[in-house]
Amino acid sequence: MEAGEIATEASGGGGKRGVRGNRRDIRELPLISEAYQLWPTLAEELGAPTGYVRTGGLNLIEKESVGMRGGMVAAEAIRATQNELGVPTEFWTAEDVREKLPQTSTSIRGALYAPLDGVAGHQDTTLAYAAAARREGAEITEHDPVLHIFDRGNGACHGVEAGRSGLIRASQAILIASNASAGSLATENFGCRLPTWTAYPQAVWLRPENEFQCPYLIGHDNRTLSVKVDSEGVIQLSGGWRGRLDPLTGSGTPVEDNVDGSIRELEATFPGLGSLTRLGVDTSRAESGSVDQLPIIDTIPGTQGVVVATGWSGHGWALLPAVSALIAEFLATGTRPRQLEHTAINRLRG
Ligand SMILES: Cc1cc2nc3c(=O)[nH]c(=O)nc-3n(C[C@H](O)[C@H](O)[C@H](O)COP(=O)(O)OP(=O)(O)OC[C@H]3O[C@@H](n4cnc5c(N)ncnc54)[C@H](O)[C@@H]3O)c2cc1C
Repeated sequence: MEAGEIATEASGGGGKRGVRGNRRDIRELPLISEAYQLWPTLAEELGAPTGYVRTGGLNLIEKESVGMRGGMVAAEAIRATQNELGVPTEFWTAEDVREKLPQTSTSIRGALYAPLDGVAGHQDTTLAYAAAARREGAEITEHDPVLHIFDRGNGACHGVEAGRSGLIRASQAILIASNASAGSLATENFGCRLPTWTAYPQAVWLRPENEFQCPYLIGHDNRTLSVKVDSEGVIQLSGGWRGRLDPLTGSGTPVEDNVDGSIRELEATFPGLGSLTRLGVDTSRAESGSVDQLPIIDTIPGTQGVVVATGWSGHGWALLPAVSALIAEFLATGTRPRQLEHTAINRLRG
């Protein structure tokens, strides 16, 4: 049951999403390593394009140290750990970076390169998943918001009430996969407060005066910067900048300072791009954040078969093919697969 239409929130919209293992939380590296294997043939499996391209991912390093979490001093340890945990990673010197990307600032001192990183078209992939699920017999209803959830653990029959479908009985399990609204559904129905919140990630599209030849998914060790360049030469900027909730529309709206801030980070890192023409900004798509920036995929405490999957913290997309299969296993068996141990809600409760 989908409240609006498929692919109109975080998993939809223009541009592409990064499929990134480089500098990901190390607890997620085994999952992204599994996802790396699935993305290249996902289009074939779903029978429709996903826009997936294995571009390689470059995380640029500018400083000697970045707090206790990065900089040149940490590069070798991070490289070695990522390799150990399934994300092949190389160190590139400043000369390597400038040879491959001549427009890079001379302040860049090196980079970590993950050749299996890439990008995928989120809108196409989401629609491809929905179409494949329907072919396999799934019933998907749109404009059908879930209003109430009933759990057998509370003495009710197990099921949901939705706007259009009415009451539906669950034969096995219920999954709340509504991202930003999962927290309120958990609170309203089960009195469970998830340690999550809603944010409105910012994506900006720019056309540079000078052609930017950058085949890689770019990240930065200390700047809030994520860059993708499409086949038409359009730059997509994202990577941690946010819009804010407009209380009148109930949707995310851009914050000009944040749009300017993201462009300044791009200019500081790639000073040779010339003037940048703004083509568009999108902050309308709600995303769920979690306290430790890892998702929560678990049975809601006090229920007997209502599972929630939320708290993606701006990087849930990349994990999709691996994590969705594991969630399906969780629902079918009632036992959280070992690979999802780090997503247990108890890690955030005393
Ligand atoms: C601008 C932006 C850039 C991002 N960049 C990246 C990236 O580069 N790499 C990456 O890995 N991730 C990225 N992400 C994060 C990633 O897109 C999300 O983590 C992921 O798409 C979440 O998928 P989802 O299906 O859980 O949620 P969504 O796609 O948000 O879907 C949830 C659905 O639930 C529906 N819903 C809500 N309430 C109800 C209800 N009561 N009843 C029924 N349905 C309901 C909504 O209408 C919505 O369609 C980005 C996100 C944004 C917004």
